[in-house]
Amino acid sequence: MEYYSNQIRLLVEQLASLPGIGGKTAQRLAFHIIDMPKERVEKLAETILKAKQTIRYCSQCLTLTDQELCPICSNPARDQKTIMVVENPRDMSAYEKTGKYEGVYHVLHGAISPMLGIGPSDIRLKELVHRLEKEVDEVIIATNSSLEGETTAMYISKLIKPTGIKVSRIASGVPVGGDLEYIDEVTLLRALEGRVEL
Ligand code: ZN
Repeated sequence: MEYYSNQIRLLVEQLASLPGIGGKTAQRLAFHIIDMPKERVEKLAETILKAKQTIRYCSQCLTLTDQELCPICSNPARDQKTIMVVENPRDMSAYEKTGKYEGVYHVLHGAISPMLGIGPSDIRLKELVHRLEKEVDEVIIATNSSLEGETTAMYISKLIKPTGIKVSRIASGVPVGGDLEYIDEVTLLRALEGRVEL
């Protein structure tokens, strides 16, 4: 990309380093940004920076939020005694879109993967165990049906069993290796409703 001047090259490089954005898209975005009015570019840059500065983990479920407690954890209408364990905030929003789940969540921020050297202490399991000290009726494990997701589900179920709290796993129907975020709402609901006790 030597035919671009330095600043354009830097912008394209920065954009191309984002997930899902290849070289061509990065170039298109870069030229689009350069064509945008200065105020809009400032607004975009400011919004990104502000999001980075203010967004943090919810102190209860660890999803991303700009408050101490996320809107779900702080909603008195939600059933605080049912906790659905998901791998990341995107999976959580997939379940929220169904509009049918009334409990709360716990976001692990990853899954156990011996192959990648990600162990139980690398994901937010300690925080989950801590939450179980309060009154909890059921933990629904909704990790992905990938090898990592299944390994994580097994690990969590073994961890929780001795406490006597009900542990369930969302039903298959979610395709193997499928990321929850790409699965349609009907399939998600079916998986939730057909969950099996472990
Ligand atoms: Zn929360």
